[in-house]
Amino acid sequence: MTGVSKLIWVLFALCWGVIRYRYARRARRNRQIEERDRNYEIALLVLSFAGYAGVPVLYLATSWLAFADYPFQPVLFCVGIAASVASLWLFWRSHADLGRNFSIKLVIREKHALVTTGVYRLIRHPMYASALLSSLGQACLLPNWVTALAGLVGFCILYFGRVGREETLMLQTFGNEYREYMMHTKRLVPYVH
Ligand code: SAH
Repeated sequence: MTGVSKLIWVLFALCWGVIRYRYARRARRNRQIEERDRNYEIALLVLSFAGYAGVPVLYLATSWLAFADYPFQPVLFCVGIAASVASLWLFWRSHADLGRNFSIKLVIREKHALVTTGVYRLIRHPMYASALLSSLGQACLLPNWVTALAGLVGFCILYFGRVGREETLMLQTFGNEYREYMMHTKRLVPYVH
């Protein structure tokens, strides 16, 4: 069954890559006019990617992490699939709703519009919420302590390293429009946080 878990993780990762590629390509047509903290942002992305992809690939392709394996657990497997499906849906919807305003780094585009509809209606960071779900999915699907921790650390690096600076950029760009949006939305979990 561990083989099935691994295969499912690979399938989710491929879907994730296809969604990201498609929407990032589209957004590039809306020219960048401002970029913040480029090197810091690249470091965040590399570290976070190492947790989400580098460590799992090491786990799948080598036996270096075998010391941290634990036995397959059917309940965790089911929770892992549910979290990964939810993550993929939210990842797709947040890209679709953000449209040409999307960028992987901290960027303002030429025709940047503030999005407050779709999955952005209740939370300001649905893409990061999907990253959190994805790290939970990874932790449950791949029965290894190191890969489980790597995804969660990858999320924390991206989220805590980015969210405050992103909201500052949004406030500087959209002013009262963003301030008002902040008043009736939470960051990651509707009505909670
Ligand atoms: N934090 C958001 C978006 C991640 S993509 C989420 O988790 O869903 C990062 C880029 O999206 C940033 O460069 C920023 O310019 C842009 N952005 C973030 N929130 C936005 C919003 N509500 N409307 C338009 N652009 C937004």
